[in-house]
Amino acid sequence: AVRQPYRELDLPFATSCQEPNVDAPRENAAIVMLARNTELEQALHSIVSIEKHFNQWYHYPVVFLNDEKWDDVFIETMKETVSGEARFEVISKEDWSYPKWMDQEKAKQSIAEQGRKGIIYAGLETYHHMCRFFSGKFFTIDALRDYKWYWRVEPGVDFYCSITYDPFAEMEKNGKVYGYTISLWEEEATCPSLFRRISDWKESHLLRTTELWKAMLAPSWVPWPFRSLMSWFGHRDKHGDAWSLCHYWSNFEIGSLDFFRAHQYQSLYQSLERSGGFYFERWGDAAVHSLAVAMLLDPHQVHHFEDFGYRHDDFYQCPANAPDGQLLDSELLGKTSNKHSPEIQGGIGCRCECDGTKTSNVPGYCLAKVKQPTTNKKLGILEWAKSW
Ligand code: GDP
Ligand code: MN
Repeated sequence: AVRQPYRELDLPFATSCQEPNVDAPRENAAIVMLARNTELEQALHSIVSIEKHFNQWYHYPVVFLNDEKWDDVFIETMKETVSGEARFEVISKEDWSYPKWMDQEKAKQSIAEQGRKGIIYAGLETYHHMCRFFSGKFFTIDALRDYKWYWRVEPGVDFYCSITYDPFAEMEKNGKVYGYTISLWEEEATCPSLFRRISDWKESHLLRTTELWKAMLAPSWVPWPFRSLMSWFGHRDKHGDAWSLCHYWSNFEIGSLDFFRAHQYQSLYQSLERSGGFYFERWGDAAVHSLAVAMLLDPHQVHHFEDFGYRHDDFYQCPANAPDGQLLDSELLGKTSNKHSPEIQGGIGCRCECDGTKTSNVPGYCLAKVKQPTTNKKLGILEWAKSW
Protein backbone atom coordinates (compact mmCIF):
# COMPACT_ATOMS: atom_id res chain seq x y z
CA ALA A 1 0.00 0.00 0.00
CA VAL A 2 1.08 3.54 -0.65
CA ARG A 3 2.25 5.17 2.51
CA GLN A 4 0.16 8.18 3.31
CA PRO A 5 2.18 9.96 5.93
CA TYR A 6 -0.26 12.82 6.37
CA ARG A 7 -2.60 10.36 8.10
CA GLU A 8 -0.10 9.73 10.82
CA LEU A 9 -0.38 13.37 11.74
CA ASP A 10 -3.98 13.02 12.63
CA LEU A 11 -5.39 9.65 13.50
CA PRO A 12 -8.85 9.33 15.02
CA PHE A 13 -8.73 9.53 18.81
CA ALA A 14 -10.56 6.20 19.01
CA THR A 15 -11.51 3.49 16.54
CA SER A 16 -14.04 1.70 18.66
CA CYS A 17 -16.64 2.32 21.34
CA GLN A 18 -15.02 3.11 24.67
CA GLU A 19 -16.30 2.72 28.16
CA PRO A 20 -16.91 6.41 28.94
CA ASN A 21 -14.30 7.41 31.45
CA VAL A 22 -16.69 9.28 33.67
CA ASP A 23 -14.23 9.58 36.54
CA ALA A 24 -11.56 11.33 34.52
CA PRO A 25 -11.08 15.01 35.29
CA ARG A 26 -12.98 17.29 32.94
CA GLU A 27 -11.34 19.86 30.76
CA ASN A 28 -12.05 23.51 31.15
CA ALA A 29 -14.57 23.41 28.38
CA ALA A 30 -18.08 24.29 27.30
CA ILE A 31 -20.52 23.39 24.59
CA VAL A 32 -21.67 26.67 23.06
CA MET A 33 -24.76 27.39 21.02
CA LEU A 34 -25.81 30.68 19.47
CA ALA A 35 -29.52 30.66 18.87
CA ARG A 36 -32.68 32.71 18.66
CA ASN A 37 -35.72 32.27 20.88
CA THR A 38 -37.66 31.30 17.77
CA GLU A 39 -35.30 28.37 17.21
CA LEU A 40 -36.31 26.55 20.38
CA GLU A 41 -37.43 23.42 18.58
CA GLN A 42 -34.29 23.11 16.47
CA ALA A 43 -32.05 24.03 19.39
CA LEU A 44 -33.70 21.36 21.50
CA HIS A 45 -33.19 18.84 18.71
CA SER A 46 -29.44 19.50 18.73
CA ILE A 47 -29.16 19.43 22.51
CA VAL A 48 -31.10 16.17 22.77
CA SER A 49 -28.78 14.72 20.15
CA ILE A 50 -25.54 15.80 21.80
CA GLU A 51 -26.80 14.73 25.23
CA LYS A 52 -27.75 11.31 23.95
CA HIS A 53 -24.51 10.75 22.07
CA PHE A 54 -22.05 12.44 24.39
CA ASN A 55 -22.99 14.69 27.25
CA GLN A 56 -25.05 12.18 29.21
CA TRP A 57 -21.69 10.77 30.32
CA TYR A 58 -19.60 13.91 30.60
CA HIS A 59 -22.05 16.64 31.72
CA TYR A 60 -20.17 19.56 30.24
CA PRO A 61 -21.83 22.94 30.66
CA VAL A 62 -23.78 24.34 27.74
CA VAL A 63 -23.59 28.08 27.19
CA PHE A 64 -26.44 29.55 25.13
CA LEU A 65 -25.76 32.85 23.43
CA ASN A 66 -28.34 35.22 22.01
CA ASP A 67 -28.32 38.80 20.80
CA GLU A 68 -31.67 39.26 22.60
CA LYS A 69 -33.05 38.45 26.01
CA TRP A 70 -33.84 34.75 26.41
CA ASP A 71 -37.46 33.65 26.68
CA ASP A 72 -38.40 31.82 29.86
CA VAL A 73 -39.64 28.80 27.92
CA PHE A 74 -36.30 28.48 26.17
CA ILE A 75 -34.48 28.66 29.48
CA GLU A 76 -36.75 26.20 31.26
CA THR A 77 -36.75 23.71 28.41
CA MET A 78 -32.96 23.70 28.16
CA LYS A 79 -32.43 23.48 31.90
CA GLU A 80 -34.48 20.33 31.87
CA THR A 81 -32.55 18.85 28.96
CA VAL A 82 -28.90 19.70 29.57
CA SER A 83 -27.27 17.26 31.96
CA GLY A 84 -24.57 19.73 32.92
CA GLU A 85 -24.97 23.35 33.84
CA ALA A 86 -27.03 25.40 31.34
CA ARG A 87 -26.11 29.06 31.09
CA PHE A 88 -27.97 31.77 29.22
CA GLU A 89 -26.05 34.77 28.05
CA VAL A 90 -26.88 37.85 26.04
CA ILE A 91 -24.37 39.31 23.61
CA SER A 92 -23.75 43.03 24.02
CA LYS A 93 -25.03 45.40 21.35
CA GLU A 94 -21.48 46.43 20.61
CA ASP A 95 -20.46 42.89 19.82
CA TRP A 96 -23.51 42.35 17.61
CA SER A 97 -23.43 45.39 15.43
CA TYR A 98 -21.41 47.50 13.03
CA PRO A 99 -18.05 48.70 14.29
CA LYS A 100 -18.44 52.22 15.71
CA TRP A 101 -16.42 53.97 13.05
CA MET A 102 -18.31 52.45 10.13
CA ASP A 103 -20.69 54.51 8.00
CA GLN A 104 -23.83 52.51 8.69
CA GLU A 105 -25.83 54.03 5.87
CA LYS A 106 -23.23 52.97 3.37
CA ALA A 107 -22.97 49.54 4.91
CA LYS A 108 -26.74 49.08 4.77
CA GLN A 109 -26.80 50.13 1.13
CA SER A 110 -24.09 47.63 0.39
CA ILE A 111 -25.97 44.88 2.21
CA ALA A 112 -29.10 45.63 0.19
CA GLU A 113 -27.05 45.56 -2.99
CA GLN A 114 -25.43 42.23 -2.05
CA GLY A 115 -28.93 40.90 -1.44
CA ARG A 116 -30.09 42.04 -4.89
CA LYS A 117 -27.13 40.26 -6.42
CA GLY A 118 -28.38 37.06 -4.84
CA ILE A 119 -25.28 36.42 -2.74
CA ILE A 120 -26.25 33.81 -0.19
CA TYR A 121 -27.49 35.39 3.09
CA ALA A 122 -25.76 38.63 2.14
CA GLY A 123 -28.93 40.71 2.14
CA LEU A 124 -29.50 39.96 5.83
CA GLU A 125 -27.99 42.52 8.17
CA THR A 126 -28.19 40.10 11.10
CA TYR A 127 -26.26 37.45 9.21
CA HIS A 128 -23.40 39.91 8.78
CA HIS A 129 -23.50 40.65 12.52
CA MET A 130 -23.46 36.93 13.23
CA CYS A 131 -20.43 36.27 11.02
CA ARG A 132 -18.58 39.22 12.49
CA PHE A 133 -19.39 38.01 15.99
CA PHE A 134 -18.18 34.47 15.35
CA SER A 135 -15.06 35.78 13.65
CA GLY A 136 -13.91 37.89 16.56
CA LYS A 137 -15.89 38.79 19.66
CA PHE A 138 -17.12 35.26 20.31
CA PHE A 139 -13.70 34.28 21.63
CA THR A 140 -13.32 37.20 24.00
CA ILE A 141 -16.78 37.60 25.53
CA ASP A 142 -17.00 37.43 29.31
CA ALA A 143 -19.33 34.46 29.17
CA LEU A 144 -16.51 32.27 27.82
CA ARG A 145 -13.62 33.89 29.62
CA ASP A 146 -13.08 31.05 32.06
CA TYR A 147 -12.98 28.27 29.49
CA LYS A 148 -10.11 27.01 27.43
CA TRP A 149 -12.10 24.86 24.99
CA TYR A 150 -15.36 25.32 23.13
CA TRP A 151 -17.51 22.96 21.12
CA ARG A 152 -19.77 24.87 18.81
CA VAL A 153 -23.21 23.44 18.16
CA GLU A 154 -26.01 24.94 16.10
CA PRO A 155 -29.75 24.50 16.25
CA GLY A 156 -31.10 21.77 13.99
CA VAL A 157 -28.07 19.52 13.69
CA ASP A 158 -27.70 15.80 14.30
CA PHE A 159 -25.00 13.71 15.87
CA TYR A 160 -25.32 10.12 14.72
CA CYS A 161 -22.64 8.20 16.59
CA SER A 162 -21.88 7.75 20.25
CA ILE A 163 -18.93 9.83 21.30
CA THR A 164 -17.70 7.75 24.16
CA TYR A 165 -14.44 9.55 24.86
CA ASP A 166 -13.91 13.14 25.90
CA PRO A 167 -12.89 15.06 22.77
CA PHE A 168 -11.66 18.04 24.79
CA ALA A 169 -9.34 15.81 26.78
CA GLU A 170 -8.04 14.15 23.61
CA MET A 171 -7.46 17.51 21.93
CA GLU A 172 -5.45 18.60 24.95
CA LYS A 173 -3.52 15.36 25.20
CA ASN A 174 -2.66 15.27 21.52
CA GLY A 175 -1.62 18.89 21.17
CA LYS A 176 -4.56 19.77 18.95
CA VAL A 177 -5.90 23.27 18.66
CA TYR A 178 -8.72 23.11 16.12
CA GLY A 179 -11.09 20.29 15.20
CA TYR A 180 -13.62 19.95 12.38
CA THR A 181 -15.90 17.45 10.69
CA ILE A 182 -16.91 18.72 7.25
CA SER A 183 -14.98 20.88 4.82
CA LEU A 184 -16.59 22.63 1.89
CA TRP A 185 -15.93 25.10 -0.89
CA GLU A 186 -16.83 28.65 0.08
CA GLU A 187 -19.12 30.73 -2.15
CA GLU A 188 -16.72 33.01 -3.91
CA ALA A 189 -19.15 35.92 -4.16
CA THR A 190 -19.21 36.22 -0.37
CA CYS A 191 -15.52 36.95 0.00
CA PRO A 192 -13.79 38.30 -3.12
CA SER A 193 -11.18 40.20 -1.11
CA LEU A 194 -10.82 38.06 2.01
CA PHE A 195 -7.75 36.14 0.98
CA ARG A 196 -6.00 39.31 -0.12
CA ARG A 197 -6.76 41.00 3.18
CA ILE A 198 -5.37 38.03 5.03
CA SER A 199 -2.31 38.02 2.89
CA ASP A 200 -1.85 41.75 3.56
CA TRP A 201 -1.93 41.06 7.25
CA LYS A 202 0.50 38.24 6.87
CA GLU A 203 2.81 40.42 4.84
CA SER A 204 2.92 43.11 7.48
CA HIS A 205 2.67 41.08 10.68
CA LEU A 206 3.84 37.59 10.26
CA LEU A 207 6.19 37.08 7.39
CA ARG A 208 8.99 39.13 8.81
CA THR A 209 8.89 37.35 12.09
CA THR A 210 8.01 33.70 12.27
CA GLU A 211 7.81 32.42 8.76
CA LEU A 212 10.71 34.28 7.28
CA TRP A 213 12.99 33.03 10.02
CA LYS A 214 11.76 29.52 9.49
CA ALA A 215 12.43 29.83 5.80
CA MET A 216 15.88 31.31 6.27
CA LEU A 217 17.02 29.00 8.97
CA ALA A 218 15.64 25.82 7.56
CA PRO A 219 14.73 26.25 3.94
CA SER A 220 13.77 23.18 2.03
CA TRP A 221 14.29 20.64 4.75
CA VAL A 222 11.72 21.92 7.20
CA PRO A 223 10.08 18.56 7.89
CA TRP A 224 6.74 18.40 6.15
CA PRO A 225 4.67 17.89 9.29
CA PHE A 226 5.71 21.36 10.35
CA ARG A 227 4.79 23.10 7.16
CA SER A 228 1.80 25.29 7.41
CA LEU A 229 -1.58 24.04 6.36
CA MET A 230 -1.93 27.08 4.17
CA SER A 231 -0.49 25.12 1.31
CA TRP A 232 -3.32 22.61 1.69
CA PHE A 233 -5.84 25.30 1.05
CA GLY A 234 -3.97 26.32 -2.06
CA HIS A 235 -2.19 29.62 -2.05
CA ARG A 236 -0.51 32.28 -4.08
CA ASP A 237 -0.10 35.98 -3.56
CA LYS A 238 1.26 38.65 -3.36
CA HIS A 239 -1.02 39.51 -5.20
CA GLY A 240 -1.71 36.54 -7.33
CA ASP A 241 -4.75 36.09 -5.10
CA ALA A 242 -5.50 32.42 -4.98
CA TRP A 243 -7.15 30.27 -2.40
CA SER A 244 -9.03 27.15 -3.34
CA LEU A 245 -12.06 28.34 -1.30
CA CYS A 246 -11.83 25.13 0.67
CA HIS A 247 -12.56 25.72 4.33
CA TYR A 248 -13.62 23.96 7.49
CA TRP A 249 -17.32 24.33 8.09
CA SER A 250 -17.70 26.18 11.36
CA ASN A 251 -21.18 25.14 12.49
CA PHE A 252 -19.23 22.29 14.10
CA GLU A 253 -15.99 23.23 15.76
CA ILE A 254 -14.07 22.01 18.75
CA GLY A 255 -11.35 24.50 19.33
CA SER A 256 -9.04 26.24 21.70
CA LEU A 257 -10.34 29.60 22.85
CA ASP A 258 -6.79 30.40 23.90
CA PHE A 259 -5.63 30.20 20.31
CA PHE A 260 -8.32 32.56 19.05
CA ARG A 261 -7.96 34.92 22.00
CA ALA A 262 -4.22 35.23 21.59
CA HIS A 263 -2.54 38.23 20.04
CA GLN A 264 -1.97 36.84 16.57
CA TYR A 265 -5.52 35.84 15.78
CA GLN A 266 -6.97 38.94 17.41
CA SER A 267 -4.60 41.14 15.46
CA LEU A 268 -5.69 39.43 12.25
CA TYR A 269 -9.33 39.86 13.21
CA GLN A 270 -8.83 43.56 13.95
CA SER A 271 -7.25 44.10 10.59
CA LEU A 272 -10.08 42.26 8.82
CA GLU A 273 -12.58 44.32 10.79
CA ARG A 274 -10.94 47.55 9.73
CA SER A 275 -11.12 46.56 6.09
CA GLY A 276 -14.92 46.49 6.33
CA GLY A 277 -15.39 43.11 4.70
CA PHE A 278 -17.80 41.78 7.28
CA TYR A 279 -20.33 44.27 5.89
CA PHE A 280 -19.18 45.43 2.45
CA GLU A 281 -18.69 41.79 1.58
CA ARG A 282 -20.21 38.86 3.44
CA TRP A 283 -17.24 37.10 4.89
CA GLY A 284 -18.22 33.95 6.71
CA ASP A 285 -16.64 33.08 10.02
CA ALA A 286 -15.84 29.62 8.67
CA ALA A 287 -13.58 31.03 5.97
CA VAL A 288 -11.95 33.43 8.41
CA HIS A 289 -11.28 30.72 11.00
CA SER A 290 -10.01 28.32 8.36
CA LEU A 291 -7.56 30.68 6.76
CA ALA A 292 -6.27 31.73 10.16
CA VAL A 293 -5.88 28.12 11.25
CA ALA A 294 -4.14 27.28 7.99
CA MET A 295 -1.77 30.18 8.35
CA LEU A 296 -1.04 30.10 12.06
CA LEU A 297 -1.09 26.43 13.00
CA ASP A 298 0.89 23.42 11.94
CA PRO A 299 -0.95 20.54 10.30
CA HIS A 300 -0.56 18.27 13.29
CA GLN A 301 -2.47 20.76 15.45
CA VAL A 302 -5.65 20.34 13.41
CA HIS A 303 -7.94 17.41 13.95
CA HIS A 304 -10.55 15.85 11.71
CA PHE A 305 -13.26 14.21 13.82
CA GLU A 306 -13.87 11.60 11.16
CA ASP A 307 -15.38 9.23 13.69
CA PHE A 308 -18.24 11.67 14.40
CA GLY A 309 -21.52 11.24 12.57
CA TYR A 310 -22.74 14.75 11.95
CA ARG A 311 -25.33 16.55 9.86
CA HIS A 312 -26.04 20.23 9.29
CA ASP A 313 -28.69 21.01 6.68
CA ASP A 314 -28.11 18.59 3.81
CA PHE A 315 -24.42 18.09 4.47
CA TYR A 316 -23.31 15.23 6.57
CA GLN A 317 -20.51 12.94 7.56
CA CYS A 318 -21.24 9.34 8.41
CA PRO A 319 -18.44 6.99 9.44
CA ALA A 320 -18.89 3.27 9.15
CA ASN A 321 -19.37 1.57 12.50
CA ALA A 322 -16.41 0.13 14.25
CA PRO A 323 -17.05 -3.27 15.78
CA ASP A 324 -18.84 -2.22 18.91
CA GLY A 325 -16.77 -2.23 22.02
CA GLN A 326 -13.74 -3.84 20.45
CA LEU A 327 -10.42 -2.51 19.50
CA LEU A 328 -9.77 -2.72 15.83
CA ASP A 329 -7.37 -5.59 15.38
CA SER A 330 -5.67 -7.29 12.51
CA GLU A 331 -8.38 -9.93 12.29
CA LEU A 332 -10.76 -7.31 11.02
CA LEU A 333 -8.41 -5.77 8.52
CA GLY A 334 -9.68 -5.85 5.02
CA LYS A 335 -13.29 -6.61 5.85
CA THR A 336 -14.49 -3.10 5.38
CA SER A 337 -12.66 0.04 4.60
CA ASN A 338 -13.19 3.53 5.81
CA LYS A 339 -14.08 5.97 3.10
CA HIS A 340 -12.36 8.94 4.65
CA SER A 341 -9.19 7.14 5.44
CA PRO A 342 -8.76 4.08 3.27
CA GLU A 343 -5.60 3.25 5.16
CA ILE A 344 -7.70 2.64 8.25
CA GLN A 345 -9.39 -0.66 7.68
CA GLY A 346 -12.74 -1.20 9.26
CA GLY A 347 -15.19 1.33 10.61
CA ILE A 348 -14.30 3.98 13.11
CA GLY A 349 -17.68 5.19 14.37
CA CYS A 350 -19.39 3.96 17.51
CA ARG A 351 -23.03 2.86 17.21
CA CYS A 352 -23.66 5.23 14.33
CA GLU A 353 -27.32 5.63 13.42
CA CYS A 354 -26.58 6.52 9.84
CA ASP A 355 -25.50 4.33 6.96
CA GLY A 356 -21.75 4.52 6.91
CA THR A 357 -21.42 2.10 4.06
CA LYS A 358 -23.29 4.43 1.73
CA THR A 359 -22.75 7.83 3.17
CA SER A 360 -19.57 9.57 3.83
CA ASN A 361 -18.01 12.94 3.42
CA VAL A 362 -19.44 13.48 -0.06
CA PRO A 363 -17.03 13.95 -2.98
CA GLY A 364 -18.34 17.47 -3.58
CA TYR A 365 -16.83 18.40 -0.26
CA CYS A 366 -13.19 19.36 -0.19
CA LEU A 367 -12.02 16.92 2.46
CA ALA A 368 -9.69 15.26 0.00
CA LYS A 369 -8.08 18.63 -0.51
CA VAL A 370 -7.35 19.35 3.13
CA LYS A 371 -6.09 15.85 3.69
CA GLN A 372 -3.89 15.53 0.66
CA PRO A 373 -0.24 14.98 1.36
CA THR A 374 1.97 17.98 0.80
CA THR A 375 4.14 16.34 -1.78
CA ASN A 376 4.07 19.14 -4.31
CA LYS A 377 7.47 20.81 -4.08
CA LYS A 378 5.98 24.10 -5.08
CA LEU A 379 4.07 24.11 -1.87
CA GLY A 380 7.10 23.77 0.32
CA ILE A 381 7.78 26.36 2.95
CA LEU A 382 10.43 28.23 1.00
CA GLU A 383 8.33 28.94 -2.05
CA TRP A 384 5.44 29.61 0.17
CA ALA A 385 7.31 32.18 2.18
CA LYS A 386 8.71 33.79 -0.96
CA SER A 387 5.32 33.98 -2.55
CA TRP A 388 3.97 36.16 0.22
P1 GDP B 1 -26.22 28.84 8.24
O1 GDP B 1 -25.80 27.72 9.14
O2 GDP B 1 -25.07 29.56 7.64
O3 GDP B 1 -27.25 28.45 7.27
O4 GDP B 1 -26.90 29.98 9.18
P2 GDP B 1 -27.86 29.83 10.42
O5 GDP B 1 -29.14 30.55 10.13
O6 GDP B 1 -27.96 28.42 10.88
O7 GDP B 1 -27.10 30.70 11.50
C1 GDP B 1 -25.89 30.29 12.05
C2 GDP B 1 -25.95 30.36 13.56
O8 GDP B 1 -26.18 31.69 13.98
C3 GDP B 1 -27.06 29.55 14.19
O9 GDP B 1 -26.60 29.09 15.44
C4 GDP B 1 -28.17 30.56 14.37
O10 GDP B 1 -29.00 30.21 15.45
C5 GDP B 1 -27.38 31.80 14.70
N1 GDP B 1 -28.01 33.05 14.26
C6 GDP B 1 -28.11 33.53 13.00
N2 GDP B 1 -28.72 34.73 12.99
C7 GDP B 1 -29.00 35.02 14.28
C8 GDP B 1 -29.65 36.13 14.94
O11 GDP B 1 -30.06 37.11 14.32
N3 GDP B 1 -29.75 36.07 16.30
C9 GDP B 1 -29.29 35.00 17.01
N4 GDP B 1 -29.44 35.02 18.34
N5 GDP B 1 -28.69 33.95 16.43
C10 GDP B 1 -28.55 33.95 15.09
MN1 MN C 1 -26.95 26.60 10.42
